[in-house]
Amino acid sequence: MGAYLSLPTWWRSLDSRYRLVIGECSACGGYTFPAEGACVECDAVDTLEPVEPAGTGEIVAHTVIEGGAPPEFSRLLDAAGAIGVAIVELDEGARVPGMLTDCDPHAPERGDTVERVVRRIYEQEGVVRYGTKFRPVE
Ligand SMILES: [Zn+2]
Repeated sequence: MGAYLSLPTWWRSLDSRYRLVIGECSACGGYTFPAEGACVECDAVDTLEPVEPAGTGEIVAHTVIEGGAPPEFSRLLDAAGAIGVAIVELDEGARVPGMLTDCDPHAPERGDTVERVVRRIYEQEGVVRYGTKFRPVE
């Protein structure tokens, strides 16, 4: 169901996503995540201006991670038992990866509306990293 969720890609992109920043294309007005490279709408290069999205969107792919996380996430996974992750299509149109929070990790479904919240992501080398997670909106 939904878009394929590549876990290695997801973990990598998460690291660049403590602030949720997308790129607004000055050529076509479309939005791309991450805010680098070519515009996903019109393929224009060097047209992306970083902007902060409103922070609400819709789940287009969802899965649950119950093992196999990189070391920095293993404590979180041990504590939580399972982590819900999703690709969220923001209202602006860009698709971004994120962890789900404030819900049963298995519960969200494709098409559910979510909003961004700032939460502790993990601790590494004594530094707590915060970033965007998504929680379901009633
Ligand atoms: Zn464009």
